Amino acid sequence: MEQKRYLLPESEIPTHWYNIVAELKNKPLPPLNPQTKKPLSPEDLYPIFAKAVSQQELDSTHAWIEIPEKVREMYRNYRSTPLVRAYGLEKALGTPAHIYFKNESVSPVGSHKLNSAIAQAYYCKQEGITNITTETGAGQWGAALSYAAKAFDLELAVYMVKVSYHQKPYRRSIMQTYGAQVIASPSMSTKAGRKILTEHPNYQGSLGTAISEAVELAMSTPNCKYTLGSVLNHVTLHQTVIGQEAEKQMALAGEYPDIVIACFGGGSNFGGISFPFMRHNISGEKNTRFIAAEPSSCPKLTRGVFQYDFGDEAGYTPLLPMFTLGHNFAPANIHAGGLRYHGAGVIVSQLLKDKMMEGVDIPQLEAFDAAKIFAESEGIIPAPESSHAIAATIREALKCKETGEEKVILFCLSGHGLIDMTAYEQYLAGDLMNYSLSDEEIEKNVSELEKIIK
Ligand SMILES: *Cc1c(COP(=O)(O)O)cnc(C)c1O
Repeated sequence: MEQKRYLLPESEIPTHWYNIVAELKNKPLPPLNPQTKKPLSPEDLYPIFAKAVSQQELDSTHAWIEIPEKVREMYRNYRSTPLVRAYGLEKALGTPAHIYFKNESVSPVGSHKLNSAIAQAYYCKQEGITNITTETGAGQWGAALSYAAKAFDLELAVYMVKVSYHQKPYRRSIMQTYGAQVIASPSMSTKAGRKILTEHPNYQGSLGTAISEAVELAMSTPNCKYTLGSVLNHVTLHQTVIGQEAEKQMALAGEYPDIVIACFGGGSNFGGISFPFMRHNISGEKNTRFIAAEPSSCPKLTRGVFQYDFGDEAGYTPLLPMFTLGHNFAPANIHAGGLRYHGAGVIVSQLLKDKMMEGVDIPQLEAFDAAKIFAESEGIIPAPESSHAIAATIREALKCKETGEEKVILFCLSGHGLIDMTAYEQYLAGDLMNYSLSDEEIEKNVSELEKIIK
């Protein structure tokens, strides 16, 4: 019988994170201070973020950054995660492609988010911080950070996007079980929240709004820092443990991917699995394709513009050069809450611009169809977010079926969907729909952006 699962001994858990920026010929444009329009320095970020991650955020020289021993110790609770050959899915599709997935859903909180949560909580503790804030969409980041905050003895306040707060009550209970305080966003507890609620009393929230609230609380509370679970460079940096492990595990399987696929919210699981492999494209040794799968209802990669924009709705964050739908974009209430963000991270935006990666958009129903095939053939119920990666994988595997090519496809299973059964219930009842977005709707938000890139 052929081997199905590949694991690494604890001694092989990565000792460093991989900072792809150091090796890019075309460096991303710098984030700008919104007042002065000057490039940011790490010191500009200190009022909001821990110092160590502020430095990592703007580091364009060190390709390898050492993982602190205490962080590696906590990684040992669940890493390495398995690399699995998806024989069941291959059979169900009748494809000659070899499909592998890196199973990040086995982390204690059920997603890849813990890889960065542990690092961020650790650095805050190191720097004498007592309180941290964050936002969460589907609740995966909030759950991960709640556990990490407890492990490092920090108080945590989480602003949870209102639609998810109601759609996903169990995620809220998980955060509370770990001891975090959870607030539905927009809330009346911040200026940003009050402003939006006054203008739109029924607004169901967005990640952009929740970020504004969490940043505001961090800036107005002593000894308190803000943390973010996606989009930013340092978050993606921490996620590169995924791809580094996957590369070793693929070698155990005697293969190397022709295509690497991940779902795309802000880009952290995509960058995490891709960048260690992309390194070999940069050096010219390999020619792997990298595909980011985003929802059709929030298509920043496939239909957004490359532009300086704010990371949040209220405009508190630095200006980031990114593919964006505009920071006022309010995505439809799809179930993949973690993918409902208006912009793409700075590094992936540059990579997309330089055609070192591709974006595809997946309609909601295709994502759930893919999830069902995967659940039936591999036994794991995927997160609605991860289902976008599965759908993109199935598209590529079916192309191989037509051409007879035995391509090697690797995708990231970023999380499981066991706390998303309300979404599955609606899908099975035929109550889910696709959302289409007109060019006018996109143009409307994008046209409001200040044109800093001429
Ligand atoms: C948050 C989340 C995502 C999207 O975030 P990225 O930063 O783009 O990875 C994807 N999958 C799961 C399970 C998530 O929790």
